[in-house]
Amino acid sequence: MKIAVVRNRNMGGVVSRFGQPCPETYGRRSVQMVIDAVRASGHTVAFFEGDKRLIANLEKFMPPDPHTRQPGGMVLNLSYGIQGDCRYAHVPGMLEMAGIPYTGSSPLGHALALDKVVTKVLMEDVGVPTPNYRVVSSPNRKVEGLRFPLIVKPRHESTSYGLHFVRDADELEKAVLEVLTQYQQDALVEEYIEGREVCVGLLGNDPVEFLPLVELDFHGRDLHALTWADKYHKSPDEPERICPAPLCKDLAGRLCQMSLATFRACRCKDYARVDIRIDQSGNPFVLEINSMGSLGPGGAFVLAAEKAGYSFQALICRILDVAYQRYFGSSKAADAPAVLAEPGSPSHPGLIAVQPEPIERQLLHPDLVTKSAQGAAGSTESRCVSSRQQLIDNHIHPHKVTEFYEQQILCRSGCYEQLKRIVEPSEAELESSGALDTSGEHDNTKMKGLQHKYPQTALLLVTDQCFSHCRFCFRKRLVGGPSREVAQDYGNISAYIKRHPEITDVLLSGGDPFVLDTEQLQTVIDHVLPIPHLVSIRFGTRSLVYYPPRFRDKALTDLFKRIRMAKKTPVIVTHIDHIGEVSEESELAVKRLRRFGVQFFNQTVLLKNVNDDSSVLAATFRRLHTLGIRPYYLFQARPVKGTLHFQVPLHRGVEIVHDVNRRLSGIEKTYRYIMAHYTGKIEVLDIGEDNRLYMRYHQSTDRRKIGMIFSRPHREGACWLDDLPCLSEVSETV
Ligand code: SF4
Repeated sequence: MKIAVVRNRNMGGVVSRFGQPCPETYGRRSVQMVIDAVRASGHTVAFFEGDKRLIANLEKFMPPDPHTRQPGGMVLNLSYGIQGDCRYAHVPGMLEMAGIPYTGSSPLGHALALDKVVTKVLMEDVGVPTPNYRVVSSPNRKVEGLRFPLIVKPRHESTSYGLHFVRDADELEKAVLEVLTQYQQDALVEEYIEGREVCVGLLGNDPVEFLPLVELDFHGRDLHALTWADKYHKSPDEPERICPAPLCKDLAGRLCQMSLATFRACRCKDYARVDIRIDQSGNPFVLEINSMGSLGPGGAFVLAAEKAGYSFQALICRILDVAYQRYFGSSKAADAPAVLAEPGSPSHPGLIAVQPEPIERQLLHPDLVTKSAQGAAGSTESRCVSSRQQLIDNHIHPHKVTEFYEQQILCRSGCYEQLKRIVEPSEAELESSGALDTSGEHDNTKMKGLQHKYPQTALLLVTDQCFSHCRFCFRKRLVGGPSREVAQDYGNISAYIKRHPEITDVLLSGGDPFVLDTEQLQTVIDHVLPIPHLVSIRFGTRSLVYYPPRFRDKALTDLFKRIRMAKKTPVIVTHIDHIGEVSEESELAVKRLRRFGVQFFNQTVLLKNVNDDSSVLAATFRRLHTLGIRPYYLFQARPVKGTLHFQVPLHRGVEIVHDVNRRLSGIEKTYRYIMAHYTGKIEVLDIGEDNRLYMRYHQSTDRRKIGMIFSRPHREGACWLDDLPCLSEVSETV
């Protein structure tokens, strides 16, 4: 195969010169090593400057096939660009326009990653912690709200060019002025994180591989930050690189997942390096991503690859291979000889693969493993945690997760550590107490499959099946059935609703109504649609998360149209707990269905070690708003048997909600923090200075209570209303 190595060294190949020339370039030795590695792998290789003559040169060196117009080779891109704010993006942009495949990120990925401010905004958007910062674009602008010491650097430079460490306002003013005048760009001012620094190398696309982590050892230095002199090996006390970094497994896993989330958010491709600081309490903060992590021999990326078992030649071949696979879908770079590294093979012992460990875990004893079976929509019912009888005795529903959730959400979201807890069984399920009907569903059941608790809403249990099983499910008493609670006689159900004109909306629930095929759903709708006092038909579902391809069904679109034609509003109430659960497929489904007049609302459950983090929840709510899904309940997890380990104490919930609200704009605060209690939906408001928890009835079976504010003494660790001391209802009212 023909491989053109392209880099920038001669800065003269432009029409005119503007602004600051690019200070970064690959050294001759590094480029020669790359060329040698490509040639040693049997490719035909040539070397070109990434300037205005590039496309003409490439057309001569590797013309396309005259019959098929398929590309005649590939570019191995080492071009940092010549000038301009988006200089990494220039050569990829030219190649994209000319239809020439190339390694590394696209113009978009490089442009996003090279703008440190945009990178930080994107990281915040997906819940990746990054140091607090301000952007300063004029010398007189004050920087407020940041703690000294600070780091000042140009917005668009890399390799630590223009980096200043400042301790007070005078130093800050000088540093900002220097960045503004010398680099002619905004200054990024961010809080300095005292602690350790670790680099994470990412290689590949689908899956992404994490190379062994590299720690920079700054022993004996005042400034624990990598400078320009360190990066170019010109510093007398250059920090030592330790690989693999001595980190515990949990923290290393967290750094990898944060790096992956940043890699995805910045739309990077093929390879990159993410730099992370860990503060003295062990909290990691991503500093930046380098979309063209250096392939120079002394750099962290090459060192990490070596530790993973890649020779330099194997690393270069692997980069070519993942790019080739991205363009052409096959696993090897065409006619390249078989020197392509196989990550995960014994020759790469240090490699951490991004795929989650198998989800089929055994909780008790291997002898008790009973079965593995295919479920709906490609879901796998994994090995049971115990014998079937033991599961039944402990009210533990079987492990079940769709392939979509495993692949799209767990593997690709970058949030594996948090999201796996939603579907992965845990021994804690055997240990926790609790009830199976915490909201009084039995007491409000009017006939099989029909609950009528609040005057306006009739709730229909249309199925006992779900695409996957949430480990914290509050209806685990019936989900995974067969259950005796599911609706059967829709004639009687519709007759009940007709007799109750106060009912304005019907909620189809279960289980997940979209597990039913559309014909079955049409039958249910046949019964309720003609009822004149109904104004909306709601579908409570988590299929947007577990199996969004369900919404490709054209017949389903027709069903929603039919509801609209009957002058009723089709409403989908989604259940999304974490921003990582929003996939491209789910976004497309929402966009499509909104065009047909479907309204979207979302419920989230506050879950320990999943989303009990204000940055995650704020990012989730913001993303939902962007999609046109209105968050309306944040539920306190109920005290359901076997799920207490998911509960977040109420005082912590209040803190999280306050912090989420500080992060959201006025129009984004559409949700309420709710306990779905036996007596009604109770909004949790605050803990007062008198150490009482203040609440308000949002909904109640007793209409007089709706809107009533009341309080109870707060008890440390309380997770539910019944955990709070109460003398009498009347004395609670305020
Ligand atoms: S989707 Fe809803 S009903 Fe189904 S298992 Fe999850 S929480 Fe339970």
